[in-house]
Amino acid sequence: MSAGTLYLCATPIGNLEDITIRVLRILKEVDLIAAEDTRRTRKLLSHYDIHVPLTSFHRHNYRKKGAYILNLLLKGQSVALVSDAGLPGIADPGEEMVLLAVAYEVPVVPVPGPNAALAALVASGLPAKHFCFEGFLPSRVKARQEKLRQLQAERRTLIFYEAPHRLSETLADMLVLFKDRKIVVARELTKLHEEIWRGTIAQAVAYFDPIKTRGEFTLVVAGSTEPDSFVLCPVNISDPAVEKNILVQVKQLENKGLAKKEVVRQVARQFNLSRREVYTLVVQAKKAER
Ligand code: SAM
Repeated sequence: MSAGTLYLCATPIGNLEDITIRVLRILKEVDLIAAEDTRRTRKLLSHYDIHVPLTSFHRHNYRKKGAYILNLLLKGQSVALVSDAGLPGIADPGEEMVLLAVAYEVPVVPVPGPNAALAALVASGLPAKHFCFEGFLPSRVKARQEKLRQLQAERRTLIFYEAPHRLSETLADMLVLFKDRKIVVARELTKLHEEIWRGTIAQAVAYFDPIKTRGEFTLVVAGSTEPDSFVLCPVNISDPAVEKNILVQVKQLENKGLAKKEVVRQVARQFNLSRREVYTLVVQAKKAER
């Protein structure tokens, strides 16, 4: 008996319209859909009126479920693998299923579509000719810093996935190890609150609130050689959150004992503002304090 096919179907990373006609057809035709997050996939399937048996395949059950799915494939059934979002096999256990299928000579067919890393890269404004995808950094501080240290000399544009509760820590580590390079923080791509934030790592440390930050993030960081194609966005100085972050930065530098002129110079550079803008903000804040 010939084996069935394992289809790797890309699904939307936010906007449900980002799905190909071919993915929809295959999802309708297969015997089984194996999904990383069955709740999320069920929503997608019901949106497109697809009624095919669904099973879970995620990082907590991939060994057992992998064997079960392989068995079905070897019996001639066809299975569509879908991840939580995007392309299965990129920073998710899809890769394990592919290894298993390849080992047993089961045909594997990619059905491409959305992917968060590439969507962030192409919109970043950083060099996209050569890049390096790193996925998630280790969650343990020492291991994360070591990984960033290994990447310090990497000349290609770097792409990372990051969880919202770890964003601030990661940005702080990047500031130490990558210094103040250009960074693009792509948040909630293709969703209602999509934000493609461009600035330097120091500005990002100041901009993203360690507690209130929510959503899904992809970070695109300049390689070790400075790209000249990238234009920094000036921050919106009338935004109270930005104003607060600038003043925090001013206070920190003042506390280090830097002269007022030097504080203004450094903060202006960090936030891509004129020295006059920073000076006016500081004077206004001091007046308001009195
Ligand atoms: N396989 C997926 C792909 O092809 O994009 C990635 C899976 S990985 C487990 C999920 C991570 O991708 C999230 O934690 C986040 O870092 C990133 N991500 C997913 N959707 C995103 C979005 N809409 N905007 C920004 N980043 C996103």
